[in-house]
Amino acid sequence: MKIEFRKVSTTPKEFINDFASVKLEGTFCKMSPTLIKIDALLTGKTPVTCIRCGEEENINLNEKLNFLISDGIFKGNESEDLIIEIENGIIDFDEICESELSSLESDYHICKNCLEDNIEIEKEF
Ligand SMILES: [Zn+2]
Repeated sequence: MKIEFRKVSTTPKEFINDFASVKLEGTFCKMSPTLIKIDALLTGKTPVTCIRCGEEENINLNEKLNFLISDGIFKGNESEDLIIEIENGIIDFDEICESELSSLESDYHICKNCLEDNIEIEKEF
């Protein structure tokens, strides 16, 4: 789903964006002429690779995503919120999902089997 930055209103609007095996659901609204606030929840499943054995496993997502979208380079004061800068005035929710998924994929992950191995090792000693 794509929306034009300038068409977003100051009244929060609900959205649902399906992308691959995940769903991003929440609200967006304009905070200033160059900033949009998004409060959303990312749910669904995504495959991640175990760093120990290399096995792929699906994890269930339930990630709160709160961030700001800046039309162009963000010029405000430092913000505690995550800020995504867009260049062409178009907010692409698929792209947001995709970048979130790729950051989850690069996270440190150990599969269930390797976790169980760990527990057994601890018992032996
Ligand atoms: Zn593993």
